[in-house]
Order: sequence, then C-alpha cells, then structure tokens
Amino acid sequence: MKLPFTGGCMCGAIYYECSAEPMVTANCHCRDCQRVSGSAFLAGFIVPLNAVAIVGEVKYYDVIGDSGNSISRGFCPTCGSRLFGKRATGDLLSITAASLDDPSWFRPTMDCYTASAQAWDYMNPDLPKFAQSPPVNASMAT
Ligand SMILES: [Zn+2]
Ligand SMILES: [Zn+2]
Repeated sequence: MKLPFTGGCMCGAIYYECSAEPMVTANCHCRDCQRVSGSAFLAGFIVPLNAVAIVGEVKYYDVIGDSGNSISRGFCPTCGSRLFGKRATGDLLSITAASLDDPSWFRPTMDCYTASAQAWDYMNPDLPKFAQSPPVNASMAT
C-alpha cells in the first residue's frame, strides 16, 4: 500500500483520500454487513477519521450497533455504494475494502461476528475468529 491511498463509490460522485495506514482490517460477518454488502460478509478497515479527506456528499444512515452505540453507515445516495462507518462520538472511520481504487493490497487480519456467519460462507482458516466484536474494538470496521 502506498500512502495516501484513494477510493470512492461506483458512480464517481464520492471520492476519498486517506493519508494513514489502516489500524485494523477485518471481514465482518454480522447481519448488518451481510445486508449492506448483499453477500456473506463485508471486508473493511479502520483509519483515523482525521486522516481521510472526502469529496462528495455522503448520506449517513444511523443504526444501533452490537455495542449499543449509534453507528452511522455512509453510502453514496446516487449509486448506493456503501463506503464508510463511524460513531456519533469518536475519531475513527471504517472504510469498505471494495471501495478502494486498488483493493489488491487489502489483507484481512481477522473474521469478526462469526456467530452470525452463514453456512455458505467459506472463511480463511488461518485468520483468528471472533464470535462477536474482537478485543480491539473493530466493530467499527463494519
Ligand atoms: Zn456513487
Ligand atoms: Zn459487521
């Protein structure tokens, strides 16, 4: 990965540039991530909020996360691409790996919320598994 790295939505209305390396990378198998990705899990990573510059108008949808805190999930209102997640209070931003301009460098380091993983979801056996949120709070990864 080269810094800064960039990404955006499918239609090009939203673009971001990040100047910091990911703090956490994960594949999340929670039901929310299944719904927003339309698949078995969502691959994403967490970076400091202040390291990301976002161009374009992101629409945020608030949900109550597993932690009981409100989490805002950001997407492009034009094409519907899911891009970001953040807490109302907090200085972290999660970004979906598939939104990267070059997703090839992404390496998930764990599977989280495997308690709700689907039977048809094949996971890398080499990655640590967490039934819920991992010890480091990576529930934001989703
Ligand atoms: Zn878009
Ligand atoms: Zn999730």
